[in-house]
Amino acid sequence: MNKKTKIMATIGPASEGEEVITRLIEAGVNIFRFNLKHNVFEWHEKIICRVKEVAEKMKVEVAILIDLQGPEIRIDTENGDDIGVEEGESLFIANRFVKDQKTIKISPEVAVKKIKTGNLVFLNNGDLRLKVIKTSNKLIELQAESKATIKNRKSMNLVSRDLDLPILPSHDLEVLARLDRLDPDYIALSFVRSKKDIEILKLLLSKTNHKVKIIAKIENLMAIENIEEIIKVADGIMIARGDLGIEVAINELAYWQKKIIDLCRKESKPVIVATQMLGSMVENLQPTRAEATDVSNAVFDGTDVLMLSEETSVGKHPVRVVKEMSEIANFCEKVQEIRKIEIQTETPTEVLVDAAVKIILNNKNLKIKAVVIFTESGNTARIFSRYRLNLPIIAMTDKKETVKGLVMSFGVESYYKKFNETNFRMPKSLVKNISSIVPLESGDTLVVIHGNNWMESESTSDISLVTV
Ligand code: PGA
Ligand code: MN
Repeated sequence: MNKKTKIMATIGPASEGEEVITRLIEAGVNIFRFNLKHNVFEWHEKIICRVKEVAEKMKVEVAILIDLQGPEIRIDTENGDDIGVEEGESLFIANRFVKDQKTIKISPEVAVKKIKTGNLVFLNNGDLRLKVIKTSNKLIELQAESKATIKNRKSMNLVSRDLDLPILPSHDLEVLARLDRLDPDYIALSFVRSKKDIEILKLLLSKTNHKVKIIAKIENLMAIENIEEIIKVADGIMIARGDLGIEVAINELAYWQKKIIDLCRKESKPVIVATQMLGSMVENLQPTRAEATDVSNAVFDGTDVLMLSEETSVGKHPVRVVKEMSEIANFCEKVQEIRKIEIQTETPTEVLVDAAVKIILNNKNLKIKAVVIFTESGNTARIFSRYRLNLPIIAMTDKKETVKGLVMSFGVESYYKKFNETNFRMPKSLVKNISSIVPLESGDTLVVIHGNNWMESESTSDISLVTV
């Protein structure tokens, strides 16, 4: 039986080959992430195609996520050279390189105007902090708080509420104009600040035929402040701890992780915990104690998805990292109850699913082996998933995009099934079909949740118990 927590692996030079992709899927990858900050469009197109071919050959449902660049600030050094700075040394931001002064340029240029004296600026993923000493129209003087090497094309973080850069820079708009060629199942939107940012992307997508789902990356203070409205309009959330760990004080990170996971579960939206989960395995064969514990705690917190970045894109042991993560998740989700949350039931489907959960929890004498959900939009399966029961959720749907849209949800295995009739009749082949997924013995029971009509969203109305 498969693990219930899903794994998303970022693909890169270390994992782009057909053989590695195959082994990554065998090791437990459910979603491949293509980070459009790196590499050219044609590379992403080629490798996405390769992943889809491998998955088809293996007959498994893996999903594709493309991660847009978003309103990032990037630095340029003269001739792309590294710049070394000592503790207390000055570094300048200017619109041209200045002789005999350590200077960087930043893009987009409008960001320069937002930098104020006294601000802190972060480079190297937050490892280097610089204080803004002086600002004038053309030149900004920063002072390094520690010795460091500054590399070309790295991102810069300004902790500011009023950066006001467009959510979709031209690089992202070009990608969206050629979306047909990538055909992803999910789009991750970087540096979301409010629901408005998601609505801008939704509007663009509504002019195309794409049924792609939107994942909002929570990685700055504004997103934290607007977290509830963002969760409501997004299809899923990524706790992007890399940038979030710079923008909020790092001692608050675990608190926000738990809080965001709880809020996502309340809204039945899938949630991803990202960045530095098994970071030392970029080099090493074993994770550190802290990393193994971090992955375990994310599972206990109730995440849907665990994400890997450099570990699988450029790391030395991509397959081994995924195996390690799968084993941790598999163990943790079995041995301990996942964090309980207070669940409100508002819609009829939520009430019905809650009743099914009570049937399962209050009747331990029934040998319930799986819950089978017939679903059009995937919504009923997501609502069930949020309880994080130690029970396989088999979702049957006749919508291809729903199969992919459920890949991120904890415990859900989604299958495509063509239905002809309008009125629901329990398919005769049900038990046979399920027993090829979950081993069933005489006396075992399936909880089946369905509606009376096909092709109708929000029509889930019945719970049936089917005993083998
Ligand atoms: P990134 O997002 O890898 O695209 O920066 C994840 C994060 O910030 O944690
Ligand atoms: Mn980020």
